[in-house]
Amino acid sequence: MQEFDFTSTGTTPVVIPRSQHNISRANISDHALKVLYRLRQENFQAHLVGGGVRDLLLGHEPKDFDIATDATPEQVRQVFRNCRLIGRRFRLAHVHFGQDIIEVATFRGRGDATDQRDRQLTNGMIIRDNIYGTIEEDALRRDFTINALYYDITDFSVIDYAGGLADLQAGRLRLIGDPEQRYREDPVRMLRAVRFACKLGFTIDPPTERPLFTLGSLLADISAARLFDELIKLFQFGYGLEVFEKLRHYQLFGQLFPDTEDCLAHEEHAFPLTFVNRGLDSTDQRIRAKKPIAAAFLFAILLWEPVRQRAEQLQAAGLAPLDAMLSASHTVCERQQRLIAIPKRYSLTMREIWLLQMRLELRDSKRPSRLLAHPRFRAAYDFLVLRAEAGEVNAELADWWTRFQSASVQERVKMLDGNVKRRRTTRKRRSKSTATAPLTTAN
Ligand code: ATP
Ligand code: MG
Repeated sequence: MQEFDFTSTGTTPVVIPRSQHNISRANISDHALKVLYRLRQENFQAHLVGGGVRDLLLGHEPKDFDIATDATPEQVRQVFRNCRLIGRRFRLAHVHFGQDIIEVATFRGRGDATDQRDRQLTNGMIIRDNIYGTIEEDALRRDFTINALYYDITDFSVIDYAGGLADLQAGRLRLIGDPEQRYREDPVRMLRAVRFACKLGFTIDPPTERPLFTLGSLLADISAARLFDELIKLFQFGYGLEVFEKLRHYQLFGQLFPDTEDCLAHEEHAFPLTFVNRGLDSTDQRIRAKKPIAAAFLFAILLWEPVRQRAEQLQAAGLAPLDAMLSASHTVCERQQRLIAIPKRYSLTMREIWLLQMRLELRDSKRPSRLLAHPRFRAAYDFLVLRAEAGEVNAELADWWTRFQSASVQERVKMLDGNVKRRRTTRKRRSKSTATAPLTTAN
C-alpha cells in the first residue's frame, strides 16, 4: 500500500485522489463495475465499499465486491432486471450475473430515528436496520474503520470518514464509535474482529479488544443460522487454527462450542487439543493449496472430543461400541444445533465420519475391503490419521489402513489373516486377565 500523508478528522472526510492510491479498475470485477456505472447513469451515487476497497488497498485479491448507493433497494430493483431483494433484518439488493452476485446496500442512517418498523433495538441490540441516510452516516454505522472506505466511481478517489486509511497503514483494527456499544448493537462484530485480525494479520486496538474478554455471552442472542454462516467464514479461509486460538483466548470459543470447550478445559491429556490443532492446521494447508475442504470434516474435528468422551462413558456403562458412538453423536449434535445451525447434510456426514472410526478400529475379516468402497471412507481415514498423529489411537492402526489401501488382493488377505490371529491372542490375553480379576479384587 502507498504511504499517504493525512490525518483524519472524524466527520470531515479525507479524499485520496486516484493519483495517490493503488486501486485500479483493472482489479475490480466487470460485474461490479457494470453495477457502479449503471447506478451512476440513473443518477444515483455508487461506491465500492467494505472488503473490496480494503483488500485492494492492501494489494490483496478481494473475496467479493460490495456496493453502497443512495438508491433504495426498490429503486435498485427497478434499475436491474437480474436483481433480488433479500434480508429482513438488513434489506439488501443482490444483482445476479450467473453465479456471481454483487451486493448493493443502501446508505444506512443514524440510530436516532424512531420508526420501530425500520430500526429495532432490543437491549441495545439492533435486530433490524432499514433506515436510509447519507454516505457519511453510512460510513459511521459500519463496523471497523478499515471497512468504511469508499471508492468513488465518478472520479476514482477513495473517501475516508472514519480514519480507516491511517488504521490500514498501521495494521490496526478499530471499531468506529464506542466499542462496547457497537458490540452490544451487534455481537457478531466480536467474531468479525477475530476474523479480520487473523485474515489481515492486524492487531486489535486495545479499546476494541478489551470488551472481547467480557461480552462473549451476548453471542447467545444471535440466531443459530447467522452463527453458522459466520463460523464458515471464520474457519474456511485458511487461518482456522489462529481463529481457534484467538477465540479461546477471548473466551468466545466456549460460547460457540460449550461442550468442546468444557472437554478441552478439563482434560489432563494433551491429545484432544493436539487433535483440534492438527485438524485445523491440515485444513488450513489444504485451503492454501486450493484443495477442496468439507465443512462437515471441520465440524467433525471441532466436536470430536465431546463425542469421544461421551461414547467412552456409554461403553463403560455397558453399551456396545457402535451403539455408544451412535448415541453420543446424536446427543452432541443435538446440543450443538441449539447454538449453531449446522445444516443436516453436514451433520449426517459428520456422524458418518465418527461412526466409521469405530469400524476402522474393528478391521475384522470381511469388512475392511467393504469399508474401502464406503463414500466417506477417505474422510474417515484422514480423520483416523489425525487421531493417530495426536496420540489418541495407536499409530499402528492408521499405518495398517494406509498399507491396506495400496496393498494387492493377496497382500490384503494376508493382512486380514494377521488381524484374525492378533484378535485371537488379544482375546486369550483378555480372558486370562478376566480369570485373574476376582483374585485381584479379593485382595
Ligand atoms: P469479506 O472480505 O469477508 O467480504 P467484508 O468487510 O467485505 O469482508 P462483508 O460481510 O462482506 O465483509 O460486509 C461488507 C461491509 O459491510 C463491511 O466491510 C462493513 O463495512 C459492513 N458490515 C458488514 N457486517 C457488519 C456489521 N455486523 N456491522 C457493521 N457493519 C457491517
Ligand atoms: Mg465483502
